Amino acid sequence: MSSNSGIQIPSRLPLLLTHEGVLLPGSTMRISVETARNMHLVKNRLLKGTSLKSTIIGVIPNTRDPEYDTEDLPTLHSIGTAGLAVQVVGSNWPKPHYTLLITGLCRFRVAQLLKEGPFPLAEVEQLDKLEQYTSPDEMSEAPGPDGELGELSQRFYQAAVQLVGMLDMSVPVVAKLRRLLDSLPRETLPDVLASMIHTSNKEKLQVLDAVSLEERFKKTLPLLTRQIEGLKLLQKTRKPRLDDDKRVLAVRKGGVLPGRQFSLDEEGDDEDGDDTAVLERKVKGANMPEPALRVCLKELKRLKKMPQSMPEYALTRNYLDLMVELPWSKSTTDCLDIRAARVLLDSDHYAMEKLKRRVLEYLAVRQLKSTLKGPILCFVGPPGVGKTSVGRSIARTLGREFHRIALGGVCDQSDIRGHRRTYVGSMPGRIINGLKTVGVNNPVFLLDEVDKLGKSLQGDPASALLEVLDPEQNHSFTDHYLNVAFDLSQVLFIATANSTATIPPALLDRMEVLQVQGYTQEEKVEIAHRHLIPHQLEQHGLTPQQLQIPQDTTQDIISKYTREAGVRSLERKIGAICRAVAVKVAEGHNVTKSEAAPAESVPQGAEHGGRKNSRGKPLSVGQEGGLTDWHSYSIRPCPQTYCSEGKRGRRAEEPDGVSADMAAPPDMPIVIDHIALKDILGPHVFEMEVSERLTLPGVAVGLAWTPLGGEIMFVEASRMEGEGQLTLTGQLGDVMKESAHLAMSWLRSNAKTYQLTNLVGGSDPLEGTDIHLHFPAGAVTKDGPSAGVTMVTVLASLFSGRLVRSDVAMTGEITLRGLVLPVGGIKDKVLAAHRAGVKRVIIPKRNEKDLEEIPANVRKELDFVTASNLDEVLNAAFDGGFPGMSNPLTLPHIVSKL
Ligand code: ADP
Repeated sequence: MSSNSGIQIPSRLPLLLTHEGVLLPGSTMRISVETARNMHLVKNRLLKGTSLKSTIIGVIPNTRDPEYDTEDLPTLHSIGTAGLAVQVVGSNWPKPHYTLLITGLCRFRVAQLLKEGPFPLAEVEQLDKLEQYTSPDEMSEAPGPDGELGELSQRFYQAAVQLVGMLDMSVPVVAKLRRLLDSLPRETLPDVLASMIHTSNKEKLQVLDAVSLEERFKKTLPLLTRQIEGLKLLQKTRKPRLDDDKRVLAVRKGGVLPGRQFSLDEEGDDEDGDDTAVLERKVKGANMPEPALRVCLKELKRLKKMPQSMPEYALTRNYLDLMVELPWSKSTTDCLDIRAARVLLDSDHYAMEKLKRRVLEYLAVRQLKSTLKGPILCFVGPPGVGKTSVGRSIARTLGREFHRIALGGVCDQSDIRGHRRTYVGSMPGRIINGLKTVGVNNPVFLLDEVDKLGKSLQGDPASALLEVLDPEQNHSFTDHYLNVAFDLSQVLFIATANSTATIPPALLDRMEVLQVQGYTQEEKVEIAHRHLIPHQLEQHGLTPQQLQIPQDTTQDIISKYTREAGVRSLERKIGAICRAVAVKVAEGHNVTKSEAAPAESVPQGAEHGGRKNSRGKPLSVGQEGGLTDWHSYSIRPCPQTYCSEGKRGRRAEEPDGVSADMAAPPDMPIVIDHIALKDILGPHVFEMEVSERLTLPGVAVGLAWTPLGGEIMFVEASRMEGEGQLTLTGQLGDVMKESAHLAMSWLRSNAKTYQLTNLVGGSDPLEGTDIHLHFPAGAVTKDGPSAGVTMVTVLASLFSGRLVRSDVAMTGEITLRGLVLPVGGIKDKVLAAHRAGVKRVIIPKRNEKDLEEIPANVRKELDFVTASNLDEVLNAAFDGGFPGMSNPLTLPHIVSKL
């Protein structure tokens, strides 16, 4: 060893247990971190720490089968390698995990385990000496070990030289390896070579356990010899194909890539000695602004002086690679033509007229002013109503690249603005990453779900976004990782959200909110037939000649299998149908290709009600036996599980029924009728339950607004003997609770007028009685005062013993004096009521103007009662009005069937 002044590793190390191989000192390894223990270590230690010390961890090979990895800490292997985490990369796909790049420093022995959770921490004893980096010239003058050890080390060195000599020296990495053999201290060679040559994990573990240098040489020398022999054999058998020899070694710069062998040629370019010259050319050709260029050249200069084994080399290299890849001056040319944009928006999206009009106005202004300064558009509406899809269309009309940045759950401002490069695992933020992905500096960025931005100790991402979105500031947006300004002023930002309530006010201020409402049943049917079905057919490799979904079936899917404001789950259901049919079609093809169809038959057109497809062939329709038809068209022979025995038997005996079309089953479209639908999607998920549930006094239907659209809500009340307590259950916010008390007080004060009684017949409904009010549907917290009228109606029904009409739903805020105040979200609520099959909707009088927004066909099918006080509400909610009212039979203002 060259000096006594070795570097000391920390005496306490966090331990990373890995199944992925054995890290040896002097080599670099990529380790995937997935277990909870290791994830904690990365999050709490590597990502939080700021000093170099905190990036040193102990890597211990875990010999236990990963299948049996449990909560308990397994018995630890006593020897491990202290490693420096050079890079941490996080990813959420396919599940949250990190990938670490770790360079092994030296062996250690676990002296004592200090704690097990959340990640193991141990007192360790350093086993190898860790030297300061010395230049190759100094090294060569250092005296080597004497005696047996000296001889061993000499033999090992010679074997290593022989091995490298057998490789193709023209490959830069081999040449570099040859140079390294001379410059590295001899005692490090066993570890370095053992990790480069072909060795099993068990063999590597033996090398790791060989603490004494002599033993280590003894253990690795046979491995090296084996590799040499193997190479000799290979050269003999495949002399002309030298390339293959290279594959025998999985050599990588300074380390090993476990489980992967690759040709040295592939990596050759990267390892090139004058690699930096290439990088320099790229830097100069990247057309970056002066300040960025200056920083790059400075970093490049540092890089040239750095030995490649230094961890910082990789960091600087990554930085420079990113800098040259960024689209500093690459952009697409806008090709905006408003007329074409209108056609494109219309052809991509059905309905949503208001939104499309506003988007066109926005684009028109952009065209005239040819500048992007102005408010950021923010589409607000329930999921699946086409917000993202409109954003994508805008990019298409402009001829720009499109990139979606999901902000849901982002709670760290460095997600937007990047980490400073001093941190281990630092990386640029999502904006810069997005620019790198699209490769141009004027894309359309869709900031998805701005309402779901979080906040944490790591700073407020909303304030970072403010800078991104502000046209006055964003021409010099500085990502912490880049540390030089990047001009974002050409990027067109569009935001989406489910609700404006949770968008930080300062952010909301910068945006122009465009509400996107939910769709009516009819709109959904149109969207399904114009867009979703063709799209899904294409996605599943089907054609309309193979699968047809009639409108009735679509309506069934919408009302019985989905309950949503948008069309996302409708699209999923259509996808499920396509998958089921794809199997049938594929099976049908196979059978017809491989064997002659047996005498299975499809009855002729007469049995099908005479409907024909475009080729004049009969279609199956949703009548009795539709299931059989559906399957018998698609596959032959028809599997037992799908065909009723009776039909199969009858057909087999009626050879006359064999259709000429039988010969070419794929030509016959499979038509999905309601029986086939049930077969594929299972029993109905939603039934019209309103009337069923309103069969007892003390139940009424309220209308609620949630960020996911409107919802109907069954409010239930019951009473029992007690002390006059009011209990409320069902995920309620404070405002809801107050509304319940208001409702109760109003009824108590009007109990006489309305002839309400308590359990013992008295006129105070609370006397000797406990009341329980429950809001069953869903676990979503419901807040807002709009359930006031529903609560009054439920309680009035409970105290009077009368049933609420089974076809009525209501919404409205109440006051203590019995007035009904206006509420928000009328359109979504009315659409939800319509979806649920309600016939009469009670709304506050002052919301009458909102009815204009409701599509005419929905309005036609509903009775709207506008109420300004609770008398009117009760009168409309009960059949024949409510007793005790001054004029019970006069209905309040009905704006029905406008
Ligand atoms: P959001 O972003 O609002 O959650 P998406 O834009 O992802 O919803 O839309 C979900 C799916 O529904 C997409 O496939 C989209 O094309 C389709 N879609 C929604 N609205 C319409 C519409 N009006 N016309 C055509 N397709 C639509």
